[in-house]
Amino acid sequence: MNKEKLYIFDTTLRDGAQTEGVDFTVSDKIKIAKNLNDIGVDYIEGGWPGANPIDTEYFNTPQKLDKSIFTAFGMTKKLGRSADNDPTLSPILNANTKAVCIVGKSWDFHVDVALGITKEENLINIKETAKYFIKNKREFIFDAEHFFDGYKSNPTYALDCLKQAYDEGSRWLVLCDTNGGTLPHEVGEIISKVSNSIPGKNLGIHAHNDTENAVSNSLTAILAGARQVQGTINGLGERCGNANLMSIIPTLFLKKSFSEKFEVNINEAKLKSLTDCSRMLDEILNRKSNKSSAYVGASAFSHKGGLHVSAVQKNPKTYEHIDPTLVGNHRNIIVSDQAGKSNILSRLEKYGIKIDSKDPKISKILEEVKDREFSGYSYDGADASFELLANRLLGKVPDYLNVDSYSVTVEKSEKLKTNAEVIFLIDGKKIKCKGTGNGPINALDNAIRENFSKVEKYYNFFSDLKLLDYKVRILNTGTEAVTRVLIESTDKSGVSWFTIGVSPNIIEASFKALIDSLDYKLFKENAPGNLKLNEK
Ligand SMILES: [Zn+2]
Repeated sequence: MNKEKLYIFDTTLRDGAQTEGVDFTVSDKIKIAKNLNDIGVDYIEGGWPGANPIDTEYFNTPQKLDKSIFTAFGMTKKLGRSADNDPTLSPILNANTKAVCIVGKSWDFHVDVALGITKEENLINIKETAKYFIKNKREFIFDAEHFFDGYKSNPTYALDCLKQAYDEGSRWLVLCDTNGGTLPHEVGEIISKVSNSIPGKNLGIHAHNDTENAVSNSLTAILAGARQVQGTINGLGERCGNANLMSIIPTLFLKKSFSEKFEVNINEAKLKSLTDCSRMLDEILNRKSNKSSAYVGASAFSHKGGLHVSAVQKNPKTYEHIDPTLVGNHRNIIVSDQAGKSNILSRLEKYGIKIDSKDPKISKILEEVKDREFSGYSYDGADASFELLANRLLGKVPDYLNVDSYSVTVEKSEKLKTNAEVIFLIDGKKIKCKGTGNGPINALDNAIRENFSKVEKYYNFFSDLKLLDYKVRILNTGTEAVTRVLIESTDKSGVSWFTIGVSPNIIEASFKALIDSLDYKLFKENAPGNLKLNEK
């Protein structure tokens, strides 16, 4: 059976960019578009040329997109001007994109209230705008704003709006649930009716998430006949967001009721980059990733309860709807205070630590993990610290960086200056490392990093060490707060590792995480232990 093609239209850079607190720079936009192009979405809507300086500059910046059709957004022409003379249309045409996506009204109430023009005038504006772009050889996409509300209020008029663009040769008529209040059964009914007048192969869906149904509405629209689906990475969008392409794409690809009937321009290998794509956007926005996001969230395939874990180990299908690696995610067995021995065993196995399931040391590790979790540690995202801890308790980690003492001073005269000093005890010798920085952690880090050469024994191991990220969480409020610090490090192998430190004192928490990172590097490279020579 020949499969029908579904088209994916990404509007992260346009509708997503309208979200509160989101301000993409031109280079952010380039990065996001490159990612979407690599994945193979059919259309990338770059923004609205002429509407703001960033979008104008972005459309003037050359960019190689070979898999996606780059699309400029705009609005139908104004009343009283011909399309050729409308100053808002010319920048859209001059952006020279293959496709243009033009929004226009399709709800009579909006025509009356928001535009204040007659219904007939609005129809002419749609028609003339479509004619203008099609005459100029653009693939025309008409975004029918508030289509579902419009159809409910006046179906004949809503359809008339679509027909203006369709009769001029519009490739797509996209039905927008702009207020996001339409429910899946209504979307299904309305699209079935619309497809009696306009073929489904020309219909698209643009859903907002105000009833938490944007993804459902999009899938329902496809089942009812629409062949283009619009959405954004992580569902980014104003208010409650747009339809989340990070959920829609894998559903279309992996769920039989879609994959047997439809094909998308994304292959199996590219599907694996969805998790990275989702994290990339969070990183650009400097937002914490939503752990419980479907498919791509860090917890989407996490197993915590002891029973679940032992079942998943027998067969992952027991508690997983898909293989996490298909979308570039991974299974995560969480060590927690509820964890049974099976959790610990499974974690140990992950690090290649062979141990008999009856070994009493397993209980010792479990107890230690529980104690530490009680005091604020969480090994969920700190694999390297867990591996170090377990191996230490199993007696497999030599003593490495023995810290004799450290101190940090902050002084402010003209400038704020932070000095740090760390004294290591290596092979019985005191090694003093001093550094300055813009803050206490930076100063401590510099004190160690700039003096690696003094720690001769370990110098080679540290020469390629890099700190990638540093995150601080305050665990409870008030002056009794405990700080949890997570550090991400890497080296020339390109693999990163995560270490954790917890203390009521932020400097101590950071220092612990930092030392764990260095110790881990020494451990994974089998560095020689620190000899207990006579201390001077
Ligand atoms: Zn929208």
